[in-house]
Amino acid sequence: MKTFKNFIGGEWVPPISGEYFENRNPADLNDAIGRFPLSGAADVEMAVASAQRGFDLWRKTPAPVRGEVMRRIGDLMTQRKDDIADLMTREMGKPLAETRGDVQEGIDTAYYAASEGRRLFGKTVPSELRNKWAMSFRRPIGVCGIITPFNFPMAIPTWKMFPALLCGNACIFKPAEDVPHTGAVLVEIMLEAGLPPEVIQLVHGLGESVGAAIVNHPLIPVISFTGSTDTGRIVGEVCGRMHKRLSLEMGGKNAMIVFDDANLDLALDGVLWGAFGTTGQRCTATSRLLLQDGIHDQFLTRLVDRARSLRLGDGRKEGTDVGPMINEAALEKVERYIDVGQGEGADLLCGGRRAAIKGLEAGLFFEPTVFARVRAGMRVEQEEIFGPVLSAIRFRTADEAFAINNDVRYGLSSSVYTRDVNVAMRALNELDNGITYINAPTIGAEAHLPFGGVKQTGNGHREGGWEVYEFYSETKVGYLDFSNALQRAQIDTYLGTPD
Ligand code: ADP
Repeated sequence: MKTFKNFIGGEWVPPISGEYFENRNPADLNDAIGRFPLSGAADVEMAVASAQRGFDLWRKTPAPVRGEVMRRIGDLMTQRKDDIADLMTREMGKPLAETRGDVQEGIDTAYYAASEGRRLFGKTVPSELRNKWAMSFRRPIGVCGIITPFNFPMAIPTWKMFPALLCGNACIFKPAEDVPHTGAVLVEIMLEAGLPPEVIQLVHGLGESVGAAIVNHPLIPVISFTGSTDTGRIVGEVCGRMHKRLSLEMGGKNAMIVFDDANLDLALDGVLWGAFGTTGQRCTATSRLLLQDGIHDQFLTRLVDRARSLRLGDGRKEGTDVGPMINEAALEKVERYIDVGQGEGADLLCGGRRAAIKGLEAGLFFEPTVFARVRAGMRVEQEEIFGPVLSAIRFRTADEAFAINNDVRYGLSSSVYTRDVNVAMRALNELDNGITYINAPTIGAEAHLPFGGVKQTGNGHREGGWEVYEFYSETKVGYLDFSNALQRAQIDTYLGTPD
């Protein structure tokens, strides 16, 4: 089995502990991918010292030059897209079409960052005083701690690191322990593209050790975290105490609302993709299905039929629709929620148990599951399950559906299927989510638009698009007075009194 290393101080090095953890294919736990460093606070300490040197160099590199490095990263990812997708599917399970999409999102993010190198706009505005200029521009901040989850092993790290780097920061990257291989390949590509070595540090290991050491380190002023709301709360508490700049992307309990007038074929395709794509392990997964009275019964019948016919299996095999769950703990959590749902009186229409796949008996598969007769307020309606479990709820009016959508602690995405433009526009206005899709499922964010959610999904920041560049840079204002006189703002201004 191959042994992987950290990238710290400009070189590939073993962990100080000398200990490693194993990474296995969730479709077949007999397939061992490699041993990865079980790092700790001492490794992080070395990474910080090196990243500060990297930052000193990189912040002085002109932004368009930094952008050229991003462009070369995008080019290399494009060349290797299929290989990366293959190794990503092997370590986290989702089918190749999805992992190719995951790589593509990284490519899109790289090219967006490349072009941003020639923008990074500040503003020049008129001064209230004569012969004086006033302007704002963007400065890098320092070393950024990047902590990412397993479900988008390439897209999410690139969403965070490419804008951070383009702005002139250095990064310390800790990938999720279930997807260290993709993380390592990403760093290899970044180095090959010409990123100065000390600008990026890769520290593998567990969240409670490496992740916590990054979050608690006083010389890492910026933390970007995507993961569970519970972990995000811990991260947030530390960052609040230490006055760090923090971006949190956490859970979701996303609803699709299907009205009687909807194109039902389209809605059916949408919900299957939204609920069971990535085996339901997306923060944007469709986990609630709100069906209007008139179509409720027939839609559910068709849905169950289709859900039962989805092909579970190895994501690297042609024809697989749904891959495995990421690990045993995730599977057990889903199993607990099946018990919770049944205990609350929901009807289990299909799924609800592990699936045995011939030849993949050592895989972590769970059948696509649909609960019906779910009522607002039940735990399966309120809590994030992060697996292939969909809860169907009946509603009568748009007001009722919108209220159900909004009555959860999360607010990432929502989806509405209707042909009524008035209902669609009302949904955009009234649904408390960061993203609302009309006639498309709850998943499908594009790299050049802001991504994120309200309430306990996030903390007000957005990834992606133009907004993320504000998170990774500090606004600096410059005033240039060429009047040769002391001009006092608010005091020596004679607004409304021209010469
Ligand atoms: P998920 O359920 O999506 O895996 P987690 O919140 O458990 O979400 O993990 C997301 C990332 O956060 C992973 O890289 C994990 O190692 C890291 N992590 C877990 N616990 C902590 C912690 N206490 N401090 C910092 N990072 C952590």
